[in-house]
Amino acid sequence: MKRRKNGTYSTKTGGSSKFRRRVFYIDRAFPLLGHIAFGIIDRGTNLLQVRPSSLCPLSCIFCSVDAGPLSRTRAVEYMVNIEHLAEWFRQIVEYKGEKVQAHIDAAGDPLTHPKIVGLVEKLRKIKATSVISMETHGLLLSTSLADKLDDAGLDRLNLSIDALDLSLAKRLAGANYYNIMRVVEVAKYIASSLKMDLLIAPVWVPGLNDEEIPRIIEFALEIGAGKHWPPLGIQKYEAHKYGRKPEGVKPMRWSEFYRKLEIWEQEYGVKLILKPEDFGIRKAKRVPCPFKKGETLRVRVVGPGWLKNEWLAVARNRVVSVVGVEGPPPVGRGIRVEIISVKDGIYLGAPL
Ligand code: SF4
Repeated sequence: MKRRKNGTYSTKTGGSSKFRRRVFYIDRAFPLLGHIAFGIIDRGTNLLQVRPSSLCPLSCIFCSVDAGPLSRTRAVEYMVNIEHLAEWFRQIVEYKGEKVQAHIDAAGDPLTHPKIVGLVEKLRKIKATSVISMETHGLLLSTSLADKLDDAGLDRLNLSIDALDLSLAKRLAGANYYNIMRVVEVAKYIASSLKMDLLIAPVWVPGLNDEEIPRIIEFALEIGAGKHWPPLGIQKYEAHKYGRKPEGVKPMRWSEFYRKLEIWEQEYGVKLILKPEDFGIRKAKRVPCPFKKGETLRVRVVGPGWLKNEWLAVARNRVVSVVGVEGPPPVGRGIRVEIISVKDGIYLGAPL
């Protein structure tokens, strides 16, 4: 990866050059609240989502955020300076005034950040950090990386294993190079040899991996996942506006999903219907929102938007995605926008 003068990097996100996308480096000049794809997301609980990178090496056919080399909607990927990210985390935790969990996740895979171990170390050093957890699909995981994350202070890895069958796992991941057997070996190693806990988190895609879910439950129990927290977090496939939708798959109804989980709970004697309390998550003071929906204001364009037809802008120490625009971002220019969404502290603006 080569650094360019304007602070952006250029890289391939995987596959052939056809899939080349620019990586935009988020350094200290950018606020880290307000965007879905990078920085910190505060949903008003004692857990903060920490997002260091939007890159992903896989192209799962059900991906809710259309990540990876086969993405059709993304214009760039973002990668965040980890010192800056840890500093924002510290300040937000201070504002909340209580112990806070750091959940490192991504609209991609957090292990794509080359300094991911350093990020865990920095978060661990913050006194008010309680649990540090991380989500991954595991392609980039190895036993030595797991050792480093363990030493750095990671408390739990949420590992998505959607199928144990080699060819089905490749198909679901949208990647021939995805070797689930390697991921399985690392999962066994984590569960048997490391301090950190392991939670296996398959996405259940009805009609595609129905038979794999009981096998995955058995696998998680066999290897001893869930030392301190539940061993499994089965996720329901949902069709999202910008996500990938596998052909012929209809999302299950919630009632049907829970009914099946209840049956498996009885059969395997394991808790599968999870609540935030199972992870110690509860409501907490939320970082104030500086915008009102419908308000018009001037924002400064600072970089490319994550998705096509978007620009990245800042105002009032927050980032705002300006949507419905065309052409390269007029970086440095002020433009007037109407704030059209403030949901969950993610800010969208439309140009006026
Ligand atoms: S589901 Fe996760 S691992 Fe798969 S493409 Fe999406 S972000 Fe990447």
